[in-house]
Amino acid sequence: MLKNNYNNVSILIVGAGPAGLSAAIQLKTLKPKLDICVIEKAADLGNHNLSGAVLETKALYELLDSAVPGWQQTDSAKDVLAAKIDKDSVLFLLGKKLAFNVHFAIRLAKMFRLGPGQMIHQGDYSISISKLTKWLGQIARQLGVEVLTGFAANDIILNHSGNLVTGVKLVDLGLDKKGSRLPNFLEGETINAKFVILAEGCDGLVTEKFVEKAGLQRQSPQLFSLGVKELIKVSSEQYKKFGHARVLHAMGFPIWMPLIGPAMFGGGIIYAGLPDHLAVGMIVGADWKYCDFNPQDALTNFKQHKFVSQFIEGGTVVEAGAKMIPEGGYYAIPRDPQTGSIGKGNCLILGDSAGFVNMLKIKGLHNAIESGIIAAKAIDQAFDNCENSAVLFTKLIEKSNIEKEMRSARNFRQTIAKLGPTLGFPLSALGGLLPKFRIEPDYEAMTIARYRLKGNLKFDKDNFTAMAATEHREEQPNHLTILNRNTCVQKCTPTFNSPCITFCPAGVYENINGQVRPANPSNCLHCKTCQRKCPFDNIRWTCPEGTGGPHYKRM
Ligand code: SF4
Ligand code: SF4
Repeated sequence: MLKNNYNNVSILIVGAGPAGLSAAIQLKTLKPKLDICVIEKAADLGNHNLSGAVLETKALYELLDSAVPGWQQTDSAKDVLAAKIDKDSVLFLLGKKLAFNVHFAIRLAKMFRLGPGQMIHQGDYSISISKLTKWLGQIARQLGVEVLTGFAANDIILNHSGNLVTGVKLVDLGLDKKGSRLPNFLEGETINAKFVILAEGCDGLVTEKFVEKAGLQRQSPQLFSLGVKELIKVSSEQYKKFGHARVLHAMGFPIWMPLIGPAMFGGGIIYAGLPDHLAVGMIVGADWKYCDFNPQDALTNFKQHKFVSQFIEGGTVVEAGAKMIPEGGYYAIPRDPQTGSIGKGNCLILGDSAGFVNMLKIKGLHNAIESGIIAAKAIDQAFDNCENSAVLFTKLIEKSNIEKEMRSARNFRQTIAKLGPTLGFPLSALGGLLPKFRIEPDYEAMTIARYRLKGNLKFDKDNFTAMAATEHREEQPNHLTILNRNTCVQKCTPTFNSPCITFCPAGVYENINGQVRPANPSNCLHCKTCQRKCPFDNIRWTCPEGTGGPHYKRM
């Protein structure tokens, strides 16, 4: 139940991630008396935030310098920004044992001002996005923003002419598995607002409903990747050997072996930052074609590579999780076809929900924060003329670093999606000189090809979800829907052997008596890969009751 008349607010922000909270903080510095409400489906701040993460701090400094005097001296700032990156490695892994340092190629590209030269991380910070989010949420609350966790949004409401958003509807509470009302049933309330900011992160449920209802369009379909990550407690010697403030990115084995093996976009990461812990992950473009592929197999292969294992062997996984990344870049930003605005009328789309990830840098956090700052400025300027706020927001974005970066990387991911990594990576250096490729949504890339590097590897998905501490109320309706079960039986299982069972990182899908079902919805990590990678576009992810999902603390 909403308290203090939060059914009517001036500003409603959907999603308490870095983008939404930055907008809230900046708005409070511009208009201290403004009533601002942020709703977040996670049980607590940061619980649903997972990223590498490397942070460029310019936008964060701009935000906090004006909002929190002396913020750099606070314990939270020192904790979140504890690891300024001093060593930045890029490797090419050849087979299970060999590793070649190719960072010189990145430096060379930088020297010649070629796109891949942006992939330099020295001077940035290796951080936990969960911690960053928690900290920003605390600052927002101290400034008087109402940040409500455990409140899941289900729909967005437009006025009759479809040019203004009037509010957002929350998920119904107290339904049983069949959808019948329990004695404690509470219909999802509607929060009416003068301005609505959508900052739900990647593939946001309400954002995508808004895109459809408001008729926004993308020039090119959004492309995604799936990232699976583990935080591993290692020995002090291993941590020291790797380096306290080092980040490492690896291409090649086990997802790209030119001419002889798999060819997928992505790679492995190892990030230091938290003492005696290493974040180890695998990010794979969701346009993979192997019907039996699971990024967790690739993560296991990566961890067993001779170069990687020296740093983590004998370590203990203390946290784990999975999340998608929006990679389509500039051409995949949803815009109003009439005005070109990112959003429409009084509704603005920020951060990963808009797709502000620069894949040449493999970073989007700085753009998420900057988009929050810009949204606040746009709303401040258009406060008495709210129907113009999305247009103004877009104009300010076009003058910002976000536009510059997104344009510079505009063909990168499409080039590799079209040509594959072996040809696409070198050609992507030409960046803007290349034509705009027509590409398909990720799910259409699936073929009957198999991923051959499985060996005897067995990934324990139950253990993985336990490390994400994911949970949902068991007796609620299943939030995962298979649209047509006949498609599974008659088309998918005979052709592709039901890939959802393999690729879902939480083992949600099972074949029970010949029928594929989302049998374990309470394990769901909210990564939404299934609705983007089912080869027949046959799965829909809906939002479960608030507080459900993972409980990330240091991801
Ligand atoms: Fe295949 Fe999709 Fe059915 Fe799973 S839900 S079996 S991936 S069609
Ligand atoms: Fe991700 Fe879908 Fe599996 Fe949930 S069910 S963890 S959203 S792939």
